[in-house]
Amino acid sequence: MSNDQSDKDLYWQEGRIPASRQFEDIYYSPENGLEESRYVFLQGIGAPEAWRNRHRVSIGETGFGTGLNFLLSVHEWLQVAPADARLFYLSVEKYPLAPEDIRKALAPWPELCGELEELLAAYPEPIQGFHQRSLFGGRVTLLLLFGDACDMLDKVVPAPLDAWYLDGFAPRRNPDMWNERLFAALARLSGPGTRLATFTAAGFVRRGLEDAGFAMEKAPGFAGKRECLRGIFTGDSAQPERPYLVGEPWYNPPAPLPRSGHIAVVGAGIAGMMAGWHLTRAGYRVTVLDRQEAPMQEASGNPAAILDPFLSVDDGREGRFHRHALLHALQFYRNLPEGIFYACGLERRAASDKEQTRFNRIMETTPLPEHLLEQKEDGSLCFPTLGYLIPEKLCAFLNRDLDFRGGQQVETLEKRAGRWHLRDENDHTLIETDAVILATPSLIRKLPLTSHLPLEALSGQISLFRTPAAAPDHVITEEGYVVPSLVLQGRRVTVAGASFLPLADPDLMPAVTEREHDENRAKAAALLPQLAGADLLGGRSAIRYFSPNHLPYAGPVPDRDFYLQEYESLRHGPRHKPLPDARYHGGLYVLSALGARGFLTSPLLAAQLTGLICGNIPPLEQKISHALHPARFLIRELVKGR
Ligand SMILES: Cc1cc2nc3c(=O)[nH]c(=O)nc-3n(C[C@H](O)[C@H](O)[C@H](O)COP(=O)(O)OP(=O)(O)OC[C@H]3O[C@@H](n4cnc5c(N)ncnc54)[C@H](O)[C@@H]3O)c2cc1C
Repeated sequence: MSNDQSDKDLYWQEGRIPASRQFEDIYYSPENGLEESRYVFLQGIGAPEAWRNRHRVSIGETGFGTGLNFLLSVHEWLQVAPADARLFYLSVEKYPLAPEDIRKALAPWPELCGELEELLAAYPEPIQGFHQRSLFGGRVTLLLLFGDACDMLDKVVPAPLDAWYLDGFAPRRNPDMWNERLFAALARLSGPGTRLATFTAAGFVRRGLEDAGFAMEKAPGFAGKRECLRGIFTGDSAQPERPYLVGEPWYNPPAPLPRSGHIAVVGAGIAGMMAGWHLTRAGYRVTVLDRQEAPMQEASGNPAAILDPFLSVDDGREGRFHRHALLHALQFYRNLPEGIFYACGLERRAASDKEQTRFNRIMETTPLPEHLLEQKEDGSLCFPTLGYLIPEKLCAFLNRDLDFRGGQQVETLEKRAGRWHLRDENDHTLIETDAVILATPSLIRKLPLTSHLPLEALSGQISLFRTPAAAPDHVITEEGYVVPSLVLQGRRVTVAGASFLPLADPDLMPAVTEREHDENRAKAAALLPQLAGADLLGGRSAIRYFSPNHLPYAGPVPDRDFYLQEYESLRHGPRHKPLPDARYHGGLYVLSALGARGFLTSPLLAAQLTGLICGNIPPLEQKISHALHPARFLIRELVKGR
């Protein structure tokens, strides 16, 4: 997928109306696209009236096109929605238009200008997959799925939407999209009362939607068109309560947390701070607790953190997760105030011939465009838009609107009368709350409710050297890494990292050692020879935590006893009877095991967890969501025990 494809396909009728060569169809009505959108789609689902007193509105769309329906919906929703309301908008698009074409297509409607600029500033790369954007100060979440409508909708973690706009090219011109698979996918993402509107009145569309569970009716068409369709989901009689849940019930998402709920995040490292920031933006009251007096003092407290992506040759779950995390992090960090993220470029050199071969293969298969990833003549990989962050500055930004409480060492947690009680070592209650996010791996290992989540601890140390005269202007990585030059307490410092050592006792903070300084110096000098004799100015050590497959945990905490009992039959081969829905310790979540790339993955992980908590479709596809699910090792054990 690339803009080339859509550029070639797109042409302008009468120099102003965007149209597709492939589908021989226009993107919107030449009469008045805006009014058509308002009539067919917004009025078709009862909007904007239906949005007036709603605190949460969710819309799905097939065919993002120029973004006209999205922008008009946002425009109208902003006029009528309560100030603390949130809009979630999912849209699928197989052939994303280039931003400049969207701008040209929407030029006739200056009233949408503000919304358009906000969209274009965040518009994703035309790379197949999921792209979530948080717009209008977090009031609007846009989840764009670039790819085939059926393929993409089948991949999302199901959560019922309030309404559907079925747009896109006309059924007779685009028969691949309008089919039973699409109608079933819409039903999977609908609940009783979900409304639907479409410009077409094609008989097979109406019948297909009826078969999928929508009660359909015809309405007069816009501007001389004969008719259009409106519908309402009346449910699937097979699963009347949660018709959208199918597949592996042990991964079914828990019920969302009401917006009035309070959330305590334990651990103010990058995981907890990102979660706190995202949940506050989603409208929750959040308190972040940490045993340290200030946030981001342990693993997340280095003077610099590089954004060093994991790339894989295949397009497996791990590779897709990391690519998604990279694109999401780039979008997140580059919009922050100055002084937090330095996009100075990152060069990755191969540490061996084998790695060089891997780099070459990555370049053959990567969907990342050249402005994000290129290969130098010497074979190294270059990420011109990456670089490093200053965690202290990032922390100040994330902490701006958070209720942070330092010096709070949580030792136990207990649920009583539907509320979680977090206590210290003297059994004194630190906080009582509706939901808890554990973002502290050391505590997850200790608590009886979470100690079954496997976590491996590795210590690591960075070393700070006086910056040599001819320091490079970008980050270089190989076996180690160097961040060229920061100013710390008035001195120019080069950060070199990092060691990886198994830990005998993860409860003890590892000490800074000369041996690891020597190791860091040797690895850094291989990248920047002047560092061999540079003055050592200091160092820092901390613990990184990994899950056994090195993917993080992001999701609800399973009730282990329930899983072992109710899913016992997984030990005995294929299932013959339906198994019950997953059961969790309601309101308890983990966001942890961020390993060696917490700064790169935490923006996406926090968005994922926020989606799950507030009941939106989360930004990661279902397979990846399952790969991060805290129950995955429990299930694996059961299946392996066959
Ligand atoms: C040497 C080194 C270099 C690294 N370099 C990079 C890099 O360049 N780029 C990158 O992306 N990643 C890097 N990492 C990895 C990154 O630091 C981690 O992925 C990330 O910091 C993990 O964040 P966290 O929030 O899970 O953990 P932490 O930052 O450790 O946060 C956990 C928090 O929980 C608190 N806590 C613990 N127990 C309790 C309790 N009982 N009650 C209350 N609070 C508690 C702690 O005080 C701490 O603040 C590096 C790691 C190391 C060790």
